[in-house]
Amino acid sequence: MATSKADYYETLGVSRDASQDEIKRAFRRLAMQYHPDRNSEPGAEARFKEINEAYEVLSDPEKRSTYDRLGHAGLDGVFSSRGFEGFGPFGGFGDIFDAFFGAASHARRRTPTRGADLQVQVELTFEEAAFGATKSVTINRTELCSQCNGLRAQPGTEPQRCPACDGLGEVRRVQRSVFGQFINVTACDRCRGEGWVIPTPCSKCRGTGRERVTRTLEVKVPAGVDNGSQIRLPGEGELGSYGGPRGNTYVVIKVAPHPIFERTDDDLHVRLNVNFAQAALGDDVEVPTLEGPHKLRIEPGIESGEVITLRNKGVPHVRGGGRGDLHVHVQVVTPKKLTSEQKKLLQQLAESLESDGGGRGLFEKVRGAFR
Ligand SMILES: [Zn+2]
Ligand SMILES: [Zn+2]
Repeated sequence: MATSKADYYETLGVSRDASQDEIKRAFRRLAMQYHPDRNSEPGAEARFKEINEAYEVLSDPEKRSTYDRLGHAGLDGVFSSRGFEGFGPFGGFGDIFDAFFGAASHARRRTPTRGADLQVQVELTFEEAAFGATKSVTINRTELCSQCNGLRAQPGTEPQRCPACDGLGEVRRVQRSVFGQFINVTACDRCRGEGWVIPTPCSKCRGTGRERVTRTLEVKVPAGVDNGSQIRLPGEGELGSYGGPRGNTYVVIKVAPHPIFERTDDDLHVRLNVNFAQAALGDDVEVPTLEGPHKLRIEPGIESGEVITLRNKGVPHVRGGGRGDLHVHVQVVTPKKLTSEQKKLLQQLAESLESDGGGRGLFEKVRGAFR
């Protein structure tokens, strides 16, 4: 197992005869770059642990000489005994500075705050909502400055222990009053309680460590989303502060109406117009579905307003497991314009129906017509 480990010098990117100072600098740079609080890229945490482990060995003259002579094998048991999973001495990001600037334990601890959430709207066609799609959305958000990687110092320069408070983050003044002498402790003005200052701020972000950027994100829209559905893109929101995690981006779905389908939840509705010959005699027709035309048998004697349900021809359920139905609403259309030939045929039909007594002169109670 030990043999598969990366070389500690390579991990820190220093030569075998690097001085303690060089090792320290390399570690600080890498630790800040890969600290899990600041870097959410996959693999960053694993890298951070490697960096930490390499530093722990190379910064200790005794361990370093063992490692130089025997390699990883010489250090077996050093890490396994106490489990390196907790990654060493560093808790929050500020602790990295503490490790270099001494026991700045009084430096004000800022509460890590999660970044704000962002919201962006994406428009889908009716079919994209039904079957899913991959869409691009563009957001404007704050990221770590690409020049200083959020360190706030101009590349090549480094943060320094605050000279005003000597890295303590607070200033003590002895005050005398009529009640006696007491010590007044205030946060250091110079470093705003942080214990360190940036002598040469980064030129790109003017020392803020942040920049506004426009990002295009790919969104996988699952099949079955509807108007107002939201898709959460975790960690794609605004930057957190003081080591807090990023916020999320929420993609709000807007679905364009369809020219013929009406949607209620995962069911679809479509109107089918038939003429009264088809209604009386029955017919084989085609109805539109999301997948294209579908053959449908109209039974003789169908009434206007009847609904024929085609199972599983609706919209897929967004959480999986089947789909809704397609309801075909039959509408018998009475013709407004007739040719003289058609009029003659209908008159013959009318006379024939009259002799049957069919549909004339009879009143029935209306059942359920006004539901
Ligand atoms: Zn910068
Ligand atoms: Zn200070």
